[in-house]
Amino acid sequence: MSQQLKPETNAAQALGIVDNETQAVVPPVSHATTYIRAEDNSYPSGNVYARADNPTFKPAEALLTKLEQGADAMLFSSGMAAAMAVFKALKPGDHVLIPRVMYWSLRNWICDHMANWGLQIDVVDMSDLAAISAAIRPGITRLIWLETPGNPLWTQSDIAEIAALAKPHNIIVAVDSTIGTPVHTQPLTLGADIVMHSATKYLNGHSDVISGTLICKQNDALWQRIRTIRAHEGSVPGPQDASLLLRGMRTLFLRVKHSSASALYLAEQLQQDPRVSEVLYPGLPSFSGHDIACKQMQGGFGGMLSIRVKGGEQAAIATAARVKLWKRATSLGGVESLIEHRASVEGEGTPVPTDLLRLSVGIEDPDDLLNDLLQALDSNA
Ligand SMILES: *Cc1c(COP(=O)(O)O)cnc(C)c1O
Repeated sequence: MSQQLKPETNAAQALGIVDNETQAVVPPVSHATTYIRAEDNSYPSGNVYARADNPTFKPAEALLTKLEQGADAMLFSSGMAAAMAVFKALKPGDHVLIPRVMYWSLRNWICDHMANWGLQIDVVDMSDLAAISAAIRPGITRLIWLETPGNPLWTQSDIAEIAALAKPHNIIVAVDSTIGTPVHTQPLTLGADIVMHSATKYLNGHSDVISGTLICKQNDALWQRIRTIRAHEGSVPGPQDASLLLRGMRTLFLRVKHSSASALYLAEQLQQDPRVSEVLYPGLPSFSGHDIACKQMQGGFGGMLSIRVKGGEQAAIATAARVKLWKRATSLGGVESLIEHRASVEGEGTPVPTDLLRLSVGIEDPDDLLNDLLQALDSNA
């Protein structure tokens, strides 16, 4: 039945799950670390030891598989843990391409630890197909890592075109789709092999769970290697967090659609403001990746935008200091709106301009959010 249902319906009902034992409409949380063997030494329940897996993950993983139209999903202890598992599944000597604009901590970890570990890494402008094509080393390049929209400039990478470049060379295409969310983009349907999300952000949506996920198009040898890495490292969320994550995902569509509509409204308003030199938002026709965004994002362009404040770094930091409603904090994708001066977080080597403020638009009234920004920008005039 759920085959024909809309994604909103599948999310709201968590695929219609009802607990067999109790008829509860919310699945139970399993706190056990270990499970009984049968007399023949087998594990009839399929559950063995909770460092590797937990039955509490299954409803969330099934829903993610469905929303991304994949073959399987795995929850991780964080978005970083999920992403790292993909890189650790490669072999020393393998060559990878990563984006110039991407989640900063992940980029630093890849360029530091994975370089020491023997991966060959090239940082590429993933909005430039010719640059990607030129960077591919046939037979050596194993992975193209994409993040689209790319944090915090919201750079667009054309997933379908890049997957077409990768396919003849058997290169894995993995997409950090944290910002796009399954509401707007399904990278596996565009040719990607793996989708990653920081579930800490929109999937959970309430700023109270650290978690991550990977979803695969094919349950193949690479996927099994990733599963083994998770089992050995124990990079799994706690059962309570997995349960909260499923709770959050039930309202994913409501929250993300609201945030995306508000973000577009704010982008359009702020674009006309003389105190703002540039608004970066994939939904604006003036944005350089707008055409690609229209191609691969449906129903909205996400809840993240950035503004460049006239007057430079000091004016930007002063603006962030004057907001009353927006919360000055890192992270994104929660119901409450957050503002952050990214360049000072990312430090040396960042592609982020120093006058940029990153805005994560929550589900508050959009005019309340706009008015707070306008009063904060006021003293810059
Ligand atoms: C937050 C974030 C991550 C890392 O996720 P954690 O859950 O914080 O480990 C990765 N990619 C993007 C785009 C993010 O916003």
